[in-house]
Amino acid sequence: MRPVERGEVPHIFAHYKEAAPYLKARLGRYCSYCERWIATGIAVEHISPKSNDADRALEWSNFLLACMDCNSTKGAKALVHDQCLWPDTDNTFHALIYREDGALKPNPKLNDSTALQVQCLLNLVGLNKQPKDDNGHRWDDRIEAWDKAVAAKRMIEIDEAARPLAIKTVTGHGHWSIWMTVFADDADMQSRLIEAFPGTARARLAITPY
Ligand SMILES: [Zn+2]
Repeated sequence: MRPVERGEVPHIFAHYKEAAPYLKARLGRYCSYCERWIATGIAVEHISPKSNDADRALEWSNFLLACMDCNSTKGAKALVHDQCLWPDTDNTFHALIYREDGALKPNPKLNDSTALQVQCLLNLVGLNKQPKDDNGHRWDDRIEAWDKAVAAKRMIEIDEAARPLAIKTVTGHGHWSIWMTVFADDADMQSRLIEAFPGTARARLAITPY
């Protein structure tokens, strides 16, 4: 999961929906959890749900962007913030392993308490739902994204000049983490991916504290 930074609060909001254009500009139109590019209907997501944490309902640091599937699965579940890892405060890329078969797992290098926090996050938004249980097709979309990244890698092996085109493909579909995984041995592509997705928390990516 891409670690993100939303930057300084742009201004005080009278309604949380006013934050949407700022979040889209700073983070891109990607779900902060499943990482898909969302054409329409991407929502301002409250990390701490607005229904049971009214004090933070308009707080910039409580906002992310989420697709309908991640947002509705998360819903208004009450939670203690530290029970989960979060893409706006942790190195969630290091914490998760994306696999070719669409599976998404905690990194086996994590200590036990961090692995539980990762599991908390996956359960919360339903990213560990099996394909048959997920009407949102997030697992299937991960497999498709992996295939696209592998196809781009083959294209680059044949023609180095295909790198910008590969970046156009990924920015139009999302799934930054899968592409970072497929291009794990290609520092140039990783650096292009970090550059191409707004709000990627570069400094946090370099830290592996768990
Ligand atoms: Zn999502």
